[in-house]
Amino acid sequence: MTYADTVSLIAQGLYVVAIGFFIFSLKGMSEVGSSRYGNYSGAAGMITAIIATLLAYQIHRTDLLIFALVIGVAIGSPIALKVPMTAVPQRTAMSHAFGSLAVALVGTSEFLQRTPNINPATTLVLCGEMILGYLTFTGSCIAFAKLQGLISGRPLVYPGRTAVSLSSLGLAVAFAIYLTIFPASQFALPLMALFALLFGFLLVIAIGGADMPTVIAILNSYAGLSAAALGFVLDNRVLIVAGALDGSSGLVLGLIMSQAMNRSFANVLFGGVGRKAVATTEIASKEGRTVASYTVEDVATILRDARTVVFVPGYGMAVAQAQHVVKEIADIVQALGADVKYAIHPVAGRMPGHMNVLLAEAQVPYEQLWEMDRINPLFPETDVAIVVGANDVTNPAARTRPDSPLYGMPILNVDKAKTVVFIKRSMSPGFSGVDNELFYLPNTMMVFGDAKKVLTDLVAAMT
Ligand code: NAP
Repeated sequence: MTYADTVSLIAQGLYVVAIGFFIFSLKGMSEVGSSRYGNYSGAAGMITAIIATLLAYQIHRTDLLIFALVIGVAIGSPIALKVPMTAVPQRTAMSHAFGSLAVALVGTSEFLQRTPNINPATTLVLCGEMILGYLTFTGSCIAFAKLQGLISGRPLVYPGRTAVSLSSLGLAVAFAIYLTIFPASQFALPLMALFALLFGFLLVIAIGGADMPTVIAILNSYAGLSAAALGFVLDNRVLIVAGALDGSSGLVLGLIMSQAMNRSFANVLFGGVGRKAVATTEIASKEGRTVASYTVEDVATILRDARTVVFVPGYGMAVAQAQHVVKEIADIVQALGADVKYAIHPVAGRMPGHMNVLLAEAQVPYEQLWEMDRINPLFPETDVAIVVGANDVTNPAARTRPDSPLYGMPILNVDKAKTVVFIKRSMSPGFSGVDNELFYLPNTMMVFGDAKKVLTDLVAAMT
């Protein structure tokens, strides 16, 4: 066996190791407890894949490599260390933008290098890869700008917008077909790229800011598919497998999020989410229902006697940054002998894992976090369910009102608890704009105010 053969064999072996790391990474990240190791495994896979690529392609330009590594580390490390947990969705959008641009540019350079001696099948795959890469780039940039508040989060809705968006995609595909037939064409490549970039922009600009986490998951899947297509062209197995893992996991995450929000993919992508909020006070007066408002002292009294307490965090806890004081209350009731759990709904908040991230930041032990399916059977035996800034994820209309946009969405059954305490500022509805019947039930105690302020007062009342 020659030296070159040995190096190639080692490289192929390292590719297999890298693929193993990537698979373990996904497995690890599927559970809160092992997610940290999942992250390490992903990083180890990436390093192994880079070393394998250097060996496989006999790349000796160490000057260029060091230059690229220094730039990458100089930009990536401060971002990873400084970006707050709550800004992770926009950080992820930015990573997708960079990743997809890199894939699209590598695809473009491959095409230009191989033209005109390129076969139609390779051209077609490369065109698909470039379209996905370019549209993911502009889509991710817009998602970043919306989440970061650089542009309005409102969906840009105008008559015929779906037709306009789909026409730009149609034109990109038409130029891709033209390029497959006439690969030497000078104008088809830039026009295809331009219409793909335009489609990404039009697609995401028409989606509301609150839907961006789902959009990011879908764009993640496009970027993965694009990388897998490039892997076929370059005959690089690790790129095919990593791209396929990325593509399928993004798609599965997008599906889980859409299902948990009771929406279809099409509704997220083309729905415009222009839902109107129903004025709750109007409904209250129309139907003659009343709401009982309580003080923190009232809550302190029932908490002192409670044996089982479940905290139900939602978007309002994130807005108020109340996670640390939630943990303080939990510690107090636990010290009084109560069993404490946290009920986690898959789409509570505004990004996947939003509540897990905030509660982890407040040092809440993993074993106290209970997913929806596990905690729901326990609500009938729960003395007090304390809902901190959550709304839609507790709304029984999801079970009982077929006319409600929430109907069919799985919810946390807090209404089954002996007492429900709602901490929120007003009677305003949540993301879906739907009134919550729970506010009017006799076993519900409404405590109005900013979650952090109310809970800080509650700590004072209990100590
Ligand atoms: P929600 O239904 O949006 O309700 C949040 C509640 O928090 C509001 O009713 C608001 O009432 C209250 N609030 C806001 N600021 C507060 C503060 N400073 N202190 C106390 N309360 C405050 O939230 P959710 O129950 O977490 O449900 C999440 C919703 O977002 C679902 O409809 C889901 O489909 C959607 N969504 C989730 C994701 C995801 O990935 N997690 C992505 C996109 C969309 P007041 O104004 O009266 O205080």
